[in-house]
Amino acid sequence: MRTQRQIVDYSLQKRALLRDLHCGRVRALEVCDASPYLKSAARFHGEPTDERCPVCRRDNLTLVHYIYGDELKQSAGQARKLAELPALAMTLREFQVFVVEVCRSCAWNHLAEQYVLGRDALNADELDTVEAAAVSTPSGRHRETGSSSQRREGRR
Ligand SMILES: [Zn+2]
Repeated sequence: MRTQRQIVDYSLQKRALLRDLHCGRVRALEVCDASPYLKSAARFHGEPTDERCPVCRRDNLTLVHYIYGDELKQSAGQARKLAELPALAMTLREFQVFVVEVCRSCAWNHLAEQYVLGRDALNADELDTVEAAAVSTPSGRHRETGSSSQRREGRR
């Protein structure tokens, strides 16, 4: 997705947990504990994958996307279909997405990744373009971004 940023990948943690499971330090019951809410979110909003469940190998994993952020108001914490996210990213400035993988057979579940979506990412680019074109624009809206502070450092 175009506005995707601040991506955190949890595959290392997942591998470590699976290692513990395979050598018996963790029991399957402890990691296959998807709540009824998570299971029904997987059923109604989940994104099917081609990846086999690493625990039971009976079913493919389903990805559930949870959204968080002040702008979402009462929708915060809800699961959404992946297809709904691009439209939300165009209407909201910023929100967090947590992607949880779930096995609908054995109830294995793990946080796969998290990232930020929202049109704030577009505004930063667009403002840069506008400022380059019209230097005297009185704009209090341009806040600190990673790229602009890097540029400033380069000038020193
Ligand atoms: Zn499974």
